[in-house]
Amino acid sequence: MPTDLSTSPKPLISVALDVPMAQVLHYSWAGEKPAHGDWVIVPLGKRQVVGMVVDRHILAQDGGESFGFNESFWGSFEPPADLAASKIRPIGPRLSIPRADRQWIVLLAFASAYYRRPFGAALLSVLPKWLRQPQNHRPKKEGAPSLVQKLLEKMSAPPPSASCADEADLSQPQTGVVSAASKTDQPATDPPLNTDQQNALAAIREIGVHVLHGVTGSGKTRVYTEAAREILFRDAQSQVLMLVPEIGLTPQLVSRFKKTLPGFEIAILHSEVSERERARLWLLIAQGKIRMVIGTRLAAMTPMPHLTLIMIDEEHDASYKQQEGMRYSARDLSVWRAHHVKASLLLGSATPSVETWAQLERGKYQYLSLPKRATGEPPAPISLVDSLKDPATGGLSSQARARIDAVLQGGGQALIFLNRRGYAPVLSCSSCGWASECADCKIASVLHRSEAASTPTSTSASKWRLQCHHCGQSSPVVRQCPQCGDTDLSPIGRGVQRLEQTLREVFPQARIMRVDRDSVRQGKLLGERIDAIDRGEVDIVVGTQMLAKGHDFARMNLVVVADADTQLLNPDFRAPERLFATLIQVAGRAGRHAGEVGAGVLVQTRYPQHRLYQYLLNQDVKGYAQAEMADRRASGLPPYAFMAALRASHTHQQTAQSALRALQAELASACRERSIDVRIYGPVPRYPETLAGRWRGQLMIESDHRRSLHAVLSMVEDWMTSHASFDPHLDVDPIEL
Ligand SMILES: [Zn+2]
Ligand SMILES: [Zn+2]
Repeated sequence: MPTDLSTSPKPLISVALDVPMAQVLHYSWAGEKPAHGDWVIVPLGKRQVVGMVVDRHILAQDGGESFGFNESFWGSFEPPADLAASKIRPIGPRLSIPRADRQWIVLLAFASAYYRRPFGAALLSVLPKWLRQPQNHRPKKEGAPSLVQKLLEKMSAPPPSASCADEADLSQPQTGVVSAASKTDQPATDPPLNTDQQNALAAIREIGVHVLHGVTGSGKTRVYTEAAREILFRDAQSQVLMLVPEIGLTPQLVSRFKKTLPGFEIAILHSEVSERERARLWLLIAQGKIRMVIGTRLAAMTPMPHLTLIMIDEEHDASYKQQEGMRYSARDLSVWRAHHVKASLLLGSATPSVETWAQLERGKYQYLSLPKRATGEPPAPISLVDSLKDPATGGLSSQARARIDAVLQGGGQALIFLNRRGYAPVLSCSSCGWASECADCKIASVLHRSEAASTPTSTSASKWRLQCHHCGQSSPVVRQCPQCGDTDLSPIGRGVQRLEQTLREVFPQARIMRVDRDSVRQGKLLGERIDAIDRGEVDIVVGTQMLAKGHDFARMNLVVVADADTQLLNPDFRAPERLFATLIQVAGRAGRHAGEVGAGVLVQTRYPQHRLYQYLLNQDVKGYAQAEMADRRASGLPPYAFMAALRASHTHQQTAQSALRALQAELASACRERSIDVRIYGPVPRYPETLAGRWRGQLMIESDHRRSLHAVLSMVEDWMTSHASFDPHLDVDPIEL
């Protein structure tokens, strides 16, 4: 019995803070009792910090009871037994920002329990930075409003008159599903919905998880915009959340929403939004004043008290998984959230993930299909070029050269896809076999031609760099082999810059544009390039994955996949699935519009018989997914097992390896003793093995039952607390192995 507490006259309150410890902290209060969800400033050591009052009983009542899989979660709410009354400090002032929505608090609590992140750290990481800073809540002078109060005052001012017409619509919610008002608002340019789109829209009206499997160019975006419009006009309060993989890659999507929802303020949330603007949007959304939100994964945890519909475009995309801090999946959290607040969830993709197919098979999700392109054009035929029979000299087979030539003769456009940045993957010495390597990461450093050097006037001196694609470090190219002194150094393999050079040599008359992360650093610039392609100012586009997503090119006749075999051989069990998705997307760029002569897709490969290419040939997305599912089931891999990775690093490889090995043995024996059915593999090195001078390794923890997995994770957390020098972290449902 904590005697200090029982004799303490001070009532305690729990406050969630961004601190690197599992526990929430406890403070005393006087006067009016702070309520669950109140934002406050509290003393922490010598600092003042922003936190949120949390009442564990309300949290449990709101749904937190279902977190039983994580036995230690509630333990973090207990005041420590040795908490001395003298150490309890009084809570500071309540902030003027609105009390947090209770359902939102449960969402963050679930994320914290599931992804094994301290509740306070999880919660505060979602609050915009600008609102986390106590000075923005404090008046600069006595009696003057604080910066936050000023912002809030501005928000409560009447909206500009421009939106009056829309307010009239909103004040008269229609009982019908599509209100008369919204029909008259329909822009004249939109064609009527086809039957498949209508069926999809009708299905989404039912609460549940819906999978919209639509071939590239089938009009999924139209379903998104119409679904949003329907809901926003039907009910004057409802809010809609649209998640996209990368805002920079989807300018077309955002403008489609703006067109469909004239007069609505749409919040666009992504990493390039300024901190103050993010705070402003966050507050407006949290108060229900902004009802349409489009954002990247970080938007998945925006407080939306009237959330009615969540839509996730390209739901299979790896960018929905956060790779640092709380390693959450925006898609998986959205599934939980939609279920919890009884909203509808729409998962859209041309290539749904294996996880999603598995849920369809279990009958948990509903399948909706858009099997035809909106333009009515059949998919462009795919053919494979066997590189052993028709070698890709300079990166291009004779078949590819002939087809590109034919397209150019006909005045069309060709897209050459190679998902490898730089000029060549490595620089090597022909005498001793030395290969360029990043000094820190110990992986190949990539030969790049500087972007400025593309202009003929630049001198060759600074033309070449060696760049590490993991840590970003770049160094000048060596003239002599550092190992044997030979000057005969040559680039090995081919990146997209080198392919561009070949294309310029083979097709000197063609207008060629390269699109990759080196030539296009901002979303805006990408938009400009895409417009130039659309206007027909380019004959050949050569580029990386950046080109694959979301763009509807009006006159792309031919797509050539130059080399995708490397990804095929990647040992990560998810690599083929990702490659298949990318290739289907890239292939879908070809021949989307009528009147294109000889539309087609050529894939150059050394492995034409590989299963993946055979399914690609038939554009059989479902068949491929079923084959992958059968493999995963047979090998006990996700989604047929639950998995977590414990990652650790240390300056000494031996130290890290033996610590991980000891933990592995300890966990394995604890599992045997307690009859917990969990498999623990490792330690295995991560890729790259060394980063910033630290060796990196991981243990893989796997079970058929989520509860068993989490039981082991509780033990791992104890180890992490006592092994902070290994900089350990947990990744639940890791997607990169
Ligand atoms: Zn050498
Ligand atoms: Zn590096």
